[in-house]
Amino acid sequence: MKRILRRTLGVALLALSGTLSLAQPCHFPTANHSLLQPGGEAKFVVGTVGKPWATGCFGCVRSDGWQMHEGLDIKCVQRDSLGEPIDPVLATADGTVAYFCNKPALSNYGNYVVLRHHIDGMEVYSLYAHLKKIRDDLKLGQAVRSGEAIATMGRTSNTREGISRDRAHVHFELDLFVNEGFPAWYKKAFPSQRNDHGEWNGHNLLGLDPRLVLLEQHRLGTNFNLVNFIRNQAELCRVLVRDTHFPWLKRYAPLIERNPLAEKEAVAGYEISLNYNGVPCRLIPRAASEIKNKARFQLLSVSEAALGKNPCRRLVIKRGDGWALARNGNNLLELLTY
Ligand SMILES: [Zn+2]
Repeated sequence: MKRILRRTLGVALLALSGTLSLAQPCHFPTANHSLLQPGGEAKFVVGTVGKPWATGCFGCVRSDGWQMHEGLDIKCVQRDSLGEPIDPVLATADGTVAYFCNKPALSNYGNYVVLRHHIDGMEVYSLYAHLKKIRDDLKLGQAVRSGEAIATMGRTSNTREGISRDRAHVHFELDLFVNEGFPAWYKKAFPSQRNDHGEWNGHNLLGLDPRLVLLEQHRLGTNFNLVNFIRNQAELCRVLVRDTHFPWLKRYAPLIERNPLAEKEAVAGYEISLNYNGVPCRLIPRAASEIKNKARFQLLSVSEAALGKNPCRRLVIKRGDGWALARNGNNLLELLTY
């Protein structure tokens, strides 16, 4: 009886910890926590060859600000006698294995793992790249706990220049998933391009800035909430899509705001705020009576300040006196609503 009670209590506590763990979603993915020390960034992030640490951060940090780096390159802190990285790579949160690639020649990520998490009511993915070795027993769908070792850091990549021993790092991403129809959409949109990774192609994962998530979470402790973090992202532009059924609405329902008029009259489309990386951060349902334009996608506004700071995704383009969706912006909305 006592044992049954203890077991029931254990299950109840486990269920409770499942909800409580939401308060602190992201564990550092290696033993390197220098980010939290004042001025510790240079010990935490690896820049590109000969460039400062900031070029290893997430954002428009490459090619003089015109190329996006969608992850955070976290520096190696443990090496073997030959100087090779041996840092265990740790799951950032409780989750399951969504995808892994152990054919390093197929990707500039080399060997990599993608984990699926449920955080604050949303599907969030973490990605760990350039791994030396993925844990042998890791299978698709397998559950992993926050902080559990899933791989060993390495420097695998299919790029010609490779990654030197000095620059050994794990490329860490926190991503939102755009659309499970990606493989079919990609084939249609880019018929001559190869896609070796199905729906796990990088174009189908929209990154959040992991450094800011880790810092904000450290600052706010249990008050950190990923939904708020995303909703508070600066708006690069606002678009209107005349579509009412696309996967993002389900997967990221907490990002949808309320509009009593649309609820009363029926929703005819969504007004969407995109951040500089194209993440749909806030979605407002709109009623037909609120939509003047017949176009499927309509650019409503552009924040020139946000664009000036982070222009590298080229989502919008200046046209005459105004702004228009650029090819990248249009592709993103096509994929979002495919
Ligand atoms: Zn990287």
